[in-house]
Amino acid sequence: PYKRGTAMAINGHVNGDAATPKGPNYERVQIINDEKQFIPELTQQIERWDLHSAGFDYDIVAVFGSQSTGKSTLLNRLFGTNFDVMDETRRQQTTKGIWMCRAKGMNVMVMDVEGTDGRERGEDQDFERKSALFSLASSEVLIVNLWEHQVGLYQGANMGLLKTVFEVNLGIFGKKTADGRNQRTLLLFAIRDHIGTTPLANLQATLTADLQKIWETLSKPPELQDRQLSDYFDLSFVALPHKILAADKFESEVQELRKRFMDKGREDYVFKPAYHKRIPADGVAFYMEGIWEQVQTNKDLDLPTQQELLAQFRCDEISAAALTEFNEQAKPQRRPIESGKVIENLGGMMRAWRSGALERYDRDASRYHQGVYKRKRADLVSVLDSTLSPLFLGQLKNLHKASLVTFKKEMLEGMRGENYNFAEVVAAARERCEKRFLDGAQEALVEGTDWNYEEELELLRNEIRIVADQCRKDETKKMVNAIERNIKKQISDPVEIWLNKPQPDMWDEILKVFRELLEKAESMYLTKAKSFNCTDEENETSLAILRKRAWLALRAKVDEQTTDAAFLTKLRTHFEERFRYDEHGVPRVWKPSDDIDGAFKKARDQTLELIPLYSRINPIDGTLEYSLPSEESDPLSSTDEFDFPATLVIFSETKILDLMSRFRRDADAYYVEAKRSMVSSVAQ
Ligand code: GDP
Ligand code: MG
Repeated sequence: PYKRGTAMAINGHVNGDAATPKGPNYERVQIINDEKQFIPELTQQIERWDLHSAGFDYDIVAVFGSQSTGKSTLLNRLFGTNFDVMDETRRQQTTKGIWMCRAKGMNVMVMDVEGTDGRERGEDQDFERKSALFSLASSEVLIVNLWEHQVGLYQGANMGLLKTVFEVNLGIFGKKTADGRNQRTLLLFAIRDHIGTTPLANLQATLTADLQKIWETLSKPPELQDRQLSDYFDLSFVALPHKILAADKFESEVQELRKRFMDKGREDYVFKPAYHKRIPADGVAFYMEGIWEQVQTNKDLDLPTQQELLAQFRCDEISAAALTEFNEQAKPQRRPIESGKVIENLGGMMRAWRSGALERYDRDASRYHQGVYKRKRADLVSVLDSTLSPLFLGQLKNLHKASLVTFKKEMLEGMRGENYNFAEVVAAARERCEKRFLDGAQEALVEGTDWNYEEELELLRNEIRIVADQCRKDETKKMVNAIERNIKKQISDPVEIWLNKPQPDMWDEILKVFRELLEKAESMYLTKAKSFNCTDEENETSLAILRKRAWLALRAKVDEQTTDAAFLTKLRTHFEERFRYDEHGVPRVWKPSDDIDGAFKKARDQTLELIPLYSRINPIDGTLEYSLPSEESDPLSSTDEFDFPATLVIFSETKILDLMSRFRRDADAYYVEAKRSMVSSVAQ
């Protein structure tokens, strides 16, 4: 917002940065040029003067007075500066403007004002007023330089200047500062070419009275009517001998005066804390630029606003610098987090970066306007946290993933072998998994944020549950399969034996064996399932599956025994045993007297009776009747839908008729064969 001057004027003996040795240098810099422009090199210059990090531990002194009254000469002698002094041989005017220099051996910035004496020449009172405003707004001590012979000349040029100073002062400092105190400034009157006949005390009294008169004639704003000169100014006086006529004395008095600028222990030390304008050294340049801008545009110089603007500017700068360093620290961790890595000690690092950034900010910015400082601090905190938050969340996500992987691995390891307790394996793996997550998540927390890991923990717990459930289901399935295989093996022989021994209670015997096997299987399942923490419902499902599978195993074995071929063989055997053998098991040799027809019919009919017996699983003892609920499908093996009553039927009605007729044909063949055998034996 500030118009930058174009000319950079360093007329000093030191030139260029490259040659500048370490430590402070004492280059002179022009801050306002003869075009009344602010020259923005002051920031860097303050760094070169090594005052940049001085905080409040620095002072500013300015000078005020008529042209060619030896002001620059005095400053140079007092502070070891090198302001231009008018060349006596040529009586040449020095360049107009405001200059600044660092005092040798002190943390002091010295301002020298060069200007034409507007009042005498009737020109450019404007610059004089502006430079007075500018000096007052920034310096603690204003040296008012005047000849001894000007003292008491109430109408003289000096008094006019002082009136300007007072008016300006009321304009600037009439209002109290933000912290409620009056801004005070020391006016140090340097009475030059003091001859000595009039003692300093008299000169002092005259000047004080004159100042008082000026103060009273000042037109003050209504709200400041009753303000006294002493509300704003402390006055101090020093008399200096003629520099040329009493050179030695001049020099020793100046050296004496110098002590009042250096020795903090002295009672007459000039830089009292009350005079300090409370602008941190690193903000002085910006502050002055703002003041000059206001002065130039003839705006009312509102210092509280200036201080706030300064604070905003500087706090932003300081915050940005802290943020840059912080980002450099945080950036390298972003990629590994995004790629799924769990970063060791991430929380520790984040806390360090964050507090580091805030410490840096606090160190430099806390010197500025407190409201602004705090507001910008809150801004900084939220930027820091919004940078860290994705790292935190990423870390949580990665922790979650890594913990779950370990959980799965531990589950598999725990379930190796036969003798494990599933519930214990799950509990142990879950505990270690959650601990790993919680340890990592807690480490990653950063104080001062509202971060938490509850949500991620809940997600993790859910997934643990899902994985454990899946494991349990797999295990149950394996177990049910094993039990099923066992039943299959054990049911095989009894079924085969009983089905080859057709008798009315054949099914009763088979079902008795089946019941026993099933009961054993169910209790085996329940014993094992205890450690699985299965719910009653899950157990019910598993048992139902087990029952159905067992039944189907039985049914499969029955099918195998009742294929057409197998069954017809059984019938043939049964028939043969009755037709071709007598009741003693001796093969028959048919004789003509034998009732072949009767024997044939009897054996055939007895055999035909077997078909209905085999056609349906139908025990005589009703208590042995077995039943299962029919259902759509088996959730574990997803076989087709299951219709229990249908499984009781071995042969359908048509199948029965088919088997009967096929058997009859077989039997008929035996009959014909018996007849033939008899005919042939008779023929022999
Ligand atoms: P400025 O314009 O007020 O800064 O005055 P300068 O420091 O440039 O000095 C103006 C002239 O006054 C120069 O020729 C100096 O040599 C001379 N001068 C400096 N100090 C004194 C002094 O104490 N007494 C007198 N009579 N002349 C001085
Ligand atoms: Mg000068």
